Amino acid sequence: MRELDGRVTLVTGGSRGIGRSISLDLARAGARVAVNYAARRDAADAVVAEIRAAGGDAVALAGDVSDPDQAAGLVEATEREFGDDLWNVVCNAGITRDNLMSRISDDDWRAVIDTNLGGTFHVCKAASRRLLRKRRGVIVTMSSVVGVHGNAGQTNYAASKGGVIALTKALAKEVGSRGIRVNCIAPGYIATELTDVLGDAPRAAILGQTPLGRLGAPDDVAGVVRFLLSDAAAYVTGAVIPVDGGMGM
Ligand code: NDP
Repeated sequence: MRELDGRVTLVTGGSRGIGRSISLDLARAGARVAVNYAARRDAADAVVAEIRAAGGDAVALAGDVSDPDQAAGLVEATEREFGDDLWNVVCNAGITRDNLMSRISDDDWRAVIDTNLGGTFHVCKAASRRLLRKRRGVIVTMSSVVGVHGNAGQTNYAASKGGVIALTKALAKEVGSRGIRVNCIAPGYIATELTDVLGDAPRAAILGQTPLGRLGAPDDVAGVVRFLLSDAAAYVTGAVIPVDGGMGM
């Protein structure tokens, strides 16, 4: 038996970057994975093809998590595809629209809050209804070192990710007695398209603040997600786990 054998798992933003690594890693551990994407179907199809080629089970599901109906539709579609047996959810989808506060447009404020915090809320709401009926399941949410410590030029992103931490703790208290665990990961700087835009100077500054002396890799996050979803973490809930090379100490 692999540690997640047969467990139906929805990974939002599962098509690229950290989400891609999570989808592949969970499938290797035996999970049946719904790989959500917003726009780039090609990327999601490639992840699904890679999982199937290795003998795993996966499906690509389109859906914008910032839209309550689409988020609920994603949870429904996951159950439809895999036979009414949702077990685990990873709320990973997220975006940045960085700027100094005085230059953040209302649209960029709303887009970041609606996707990162709103998307986590909408997906958790739809999923927790189902998990509550089954009295089991695990949710992992994705915050950031920025959601814990703040960062100049990211007030919108920091607010959204701080909100994700608060939502995680509140939900963990709400559903713990029904056998459902909810935990949060706070990654540091992980090498993906999201961080590709960093210039040399900010990159050097980040490395200078990171005891492990390197940017993280998506697989560094995926391994911790797998642990939190597994029975090895059966007594862990409401936790915020930094995966940041020691940056947040
Ligand atoms: P990427 O930009 O590489 O990938 C983002 C993923 O989210 C894509 O699959 C994208 O799909 C999907 N997505 C974006 N918006 C939506 C939406 N509205 N609905 C559904 N899916 C959506 O990001 P990362 O892998 O770097 O980041 C993943 C998560 O980790 C985010 O929550 C991010 O905030 C967090 N994080 C990242 C860090 C880093 O250093 N990279 C550090 C700390 C936290 P599509 O391709 O179709 O648009």
